[in-house]
Amino acid sequence: MARYTESLCRLCRREGIQLFLKGTRCMTEKCAYSRRPYIPGQHHNTGKGNKKMSEYGKQLREKQKAKRIYGVLERQFEKYFEIADRKKGETGENLIRILEERLDNAVYRSGFATSRVTARQLVNHGHVMINGKKVNIPSYQVRPGEKITIKEKTLVSAAVNNAMEDAKKKKNVPTWIEMNFDKKEAVIKSEPVKTDVNLPVQVQLIVELYSK
Ligand code: SF4
Repeated sequence: MARYTESLCRLCRREGIQLFLKGTRCMTEKCAYSRRPYIPGQHHNTGKGNKKMSEYGKQLREKQKAKRIYGVLERQFEKYFEIADRKKGETGENLIRILEERLDNAVYRSGFATSRVTARQLVNHGHVMINGKKVNIPSYQVRPGEKITIKEKTLVSAAVNNAMEDAKKKKNVPTWIEMNFDKKEAVIKSEPVKTDVNLPVQVQLIVELYSK
């Protein structure tokens, strides 16, 4: 996500939806989308051009939304789609599963960070361990049975502790992750399932886009 040069809030306004890219700020009145829920550069009375959007336009927007939510660039997203398409089962579900299994997403979903952007920074800066070994690749795919922990030194940071407190209160850790807030460790229990993900994206439109 850090690789996007645009402001993160601008991405939400462009997609016409809260993508929750800035953690706790997204829940406050400071949220730029809540204050200006229209496409940047367009007057808010005329910015709802979606009524005239073509089918292709809609498909494209869904893809952009998914890319922005997970902070994935075009090439990698295409690669994920190819893998999803080759796998058994429904391509859309496979695609979401692959995106969810990214390490930065799993760190976020476990509650170690309040956004995927912060989770990615934790991974990039070498604070995250899988089964006791440092893994600093955000796109690493987590597998059932693996244990995610944060380096002891990092665990004292207010950001990580506040994130965990928040996740504990909200009880929003998905069922495919077993998070132990006392031990501060997360175990991947199973592969993510669609019902667990609750993504504001019509994945079928992405499948249609790439199937052309
Ligand atoms: Fe999007 Fe969060 Fe910015 Fe609101 S505060 S516009 S949800 S990134």
